Amino acid sequence: MTEQIEQTDAVVIGAGVIGCAVAWRLGQAGMRVVVVERGRVGGEASHAAAGMLAPLAEADREDEFFNLTAASLATYADFARELKASSGVDVEYRDEGTLCLALTQNDEEELERRWQWLHEAGLNVRRLNAGSALKLEPLLNQTLRFALKFPGDHQVDNRRLMTALHGAARNAGIEFLTHTEARELLTENVAGRSRVTVDELARSRMAMLHSSSFLIRRDSLAADAIGLVAEDAPGSQNEDWDLLLRAARRAPIVHLDEPLVRVLWGRTSHYAYEYATKISSLRWMMQRHPEISGCKPGAARVYGQLACWSAASGNRRDALVFTAQAVRNNWREPRAAIAIAAATGVVSVDKVRALKLAAEGKIPIVREFVTRKMTAGAK
Ligand SMILES: Cc1cc2nc3c(=O)[nH]c(=O)nc-3n(C[C@H](O)[C@H](O)[C@H](O)COP(=O)(O)OP(=O)(O)OC[C@H]3O[C@@H](n4cnc5c(N)ncnc54)[C@H](O)[C@@H]3O)c2cc1C
Repeated sequence: MTEQIEQTDAVVIGAGVIGCAVAWRLGQAGMRVVVVERGRVGGEASHAAAGMLAPLAEADREDEFFNLTAASLATYADFARELKASSGVDVEYRDEGTLCLALTQNDEEELERRWQWLHEAGLNVRRLNAGSALKLEPLLNQTLRFALKFPGDHQVDNRRLMTALHGAARNAGIEFLTHTEARELLTENVAGRSRVTVDELARSRMAMLHSSSFLIRRDSLAADAIGLVAEDAPGSQNEDWDLLLRAARRAPIVHLDEPLVRVLWGRTSHYAYEYATKISSLRWMMQRHPEISGCKPGAARVYGQLACWSAASGNRRDALVFTAQAVRNNWREPRAAIAIAAATGVVSVDKVRALKLAAEGKIPIVREFVTRKMTAGAK
């Protein structure tokens, strides 16, 4: 399933009227789309609805929302026709208007108030006395006091609408994964994002925010603002992550998602086998940034790394302690499994690094890493 999702251009979560309509349009535009639905297609609000297309009958004022719903209604007849042509299902679009009834004293006051503003705004509404309304709909309750008729408010059969949208989307090549709940949005890679918060950075150090391309105002680096690059970071490791966390604490970091800087990465990191430095640097980060321990996936990630480096340096005891902490924070943390395998001798220590890189989606080959220019947004 993960592979199926990774190969798509877009994932839509929720197969109600909104999700299905969005997916259908994306499919028509030639995109590969998967719709993930925790239950069945159109089984929630879109099933319960009454199918009224009634912006006038439901509006309290002529604001932007009202204008949007009125503009949307104006396109509905064409939408219904196109949907029928694409799915073969008639959504029973009806345009004979909507009646709102005043049966009680409260209804009367409410409809009177609506009538006043709609009439003054020159909108398409008619006031009918009880006799005229009963002529139109003879089966109405005879205690009727008066009614408002909205000739421009229409309706569809919402359940047929869902059948039609589902069919049209499938005909446009959309895949539906039903009885599948989306539980988490993974945002480790920030490409396509314009702002990065401290919570996101605590969850994961992001490669896209690379130290070769920081742009920071000089006065923001004052001691009482972000502060300078920490010279006491063990082995200078993680000093860029530290700086980013301090900046993001003040305000989200602005990320310009453009390849403006080229970074050439070698086969291995200078720190590749500096296990002791890696361990003390990560401990230093945990001490300085309570946000990391406060974020379960972030803490699990760091404990998983500490477990791997402890296992790689032959310290089985620490590897098991850190593994336990990683699992406590997130039982799915892949580095924990790697560390256990190494600490118990199932895989050789040399393999730990390769496995850890694979778990992080990094392949240790010579590569050109095109990074993004970004601005540390703190003032
Ligand atoms: C009783 C009632 C009457 C109504 N009458 C009208 C009316 O006459 N006219 C009108 O215009 N509107 C009406 N509405 C409102 C209308 O039904 C909703 O605005 C509309 O259906 C919303 O569509 P949707 O796709 O956003 O939500 P839904 O139809 O609820 O679809 C959302 C889908 O997302 C799925 N989902 C949620 N979380 C996850 C997850 N984590 N992973 C996977 N799937 C997930 C749900 O299972 C659901 O199927 C009515 C609503 C109700 C309840």
